[in-house]
Amino acid sequence: MYDVYDRLQILADSAKYDVSCSSSGNERKNNRAGGIGNARSFGICHAWAADGRCISLLKILMTNHCVYDCAYCINRSSNDVPRASLTPEEIAKTTMAFYRRNYIEGLFLSSAVDVSPNQTMEQIVKTLELLRHQWQFQGYIHVKAIPGADPRLIQQAGFLADRMSANIELPSSESLQRLAPQKQLQTILKPMNQIQHGIEENRYALKQYRNAQSFVPAGQSTQMIVGATPESDYQMIHTSQKLYDRFQLKRVFYSAYIPVGNPKKILVPIPKIAPLMREHRLYQADWLLRFYGFRAEELLDEIKPHFDADFDPKMIWAIRHLEQFPVEINRAPFETLIRVPGIGHKTASRIVNQRRLASLSVEEVKKTRLVWKRARFFLTVRGKYYGGRSISPEGIKTALQPEWSHQLRLFPNAKGGQARGLSI
Ligand code: SF4
Repeated sequence: MYDVYDRLQILADSAKYDVSCSSSGNERKNNRAGGIGNARSFGICHAWAADGRCISLLKILMTNHCVYDCAYCINRSSNDVPRASLTPEEIAKTTMAFYRRNYIEGLFLSSAVDVSPNQTMEQIVKTLELLRHQWQFQGYIHVKAIPGADPRLIQQAGFLADRMSANIELPSSESLQRLAPQKQLQTILKPMNQIQHGIEENRYALKQYRNAQSFVPAGQSTQMIVGATPESDYQMIHTSQKLYDRFQLKRVFYSAYIPVGNPKKILVPIPKIAPLMREHRLYQADWLLRFYGFRAEELLDEIKPHFDADFDPKMIWAIRHLEQFPVEINRAPFETLIRVPGIGHKTASRIVNQRRLASLSVEEVKKTRLVWKRARFFLTVRGKYYGGRSISPEGIKTALQPEWSHQLRLFPNAKGGQARGLSI
């Protein structure tokens, strides 16, 4: 029988594969003598609260006993890992103890499905009730909505938590059927739908009644695993777009599939394309969907269904749509400027504000903190083009080829051009 400390270690370790918070998945660990800090150790993660503050959270599972057998998951019922559970009282007490010591500002509580979705969700709700009502805890709480649980329990959790998430895990019913046969897409989408409706109704209630209770004020999020199934980047980003459109999610998190546990018992083959680079590109594309007005079908299509390893999705989009460039920096609307590689939201606002006073010269443009090295191929400044003699996809790619993509030579004295390589 483990004591509370041991169980906390097991459950915090089991929770680290859920990346629905912003610091998970970091690879840097403390392996230097005398070094301080370790970005890989588990237990504390970070999230952004509704008001934009970055906060540290105690991140644990309530239990890692699971009746389901999802092939990609370390906690699956057929996997041989140490199992543990914490009671609602133990979680509430630990959260308060850590909060009072200033270790954390909130709680990220997830759980495997122990016995049934209803029983698991009941325990989660009980923990939140203890924290909010008995301990008067007013800090940030993110909890999982367990698919298949009674909508009444999801509703109760929604009035006690700041953020909720139901993990979609895989982008298609077929993949779910193959790797997580006890889960169904519709059962996962149901709580998402309920939370979204709850948030909308609550928005109205908060306007009408001064004392109305908030329902999931920091919104909902979800997570998808990258690389465990054959879906392309296009299918992944298209699914994300549908989720944003339909459920107004705050975020979709992407988690590169990493086989964990006993190598002989790994059920999903290791993917050929390194999923960490895919994860990185999907986050960049997701950012374009949420803040730059792009649609999934603008970034990829069935013919080119994967992002480029060498260039970010906005650069690739711009290179494929050279007919829309160059744009005059002193006249282009804000929405066009943010589509120029090397220009972000803040820089575009700065340009729009500055050019109200007088048209910008090239020296002034460079001072706006745009990435001139990239942006110059897609702009004119006072009618002059600075991207070289002719604008062509190959020319731009060659000029911007990242240093690391030039493969090291095996035989330094061998003749021949520099090879491109390092496929990811
Ligand atoms: S239900 Fe969740 S915890 Fe259980 S095996 Fe599936 S992914 Fe893992």
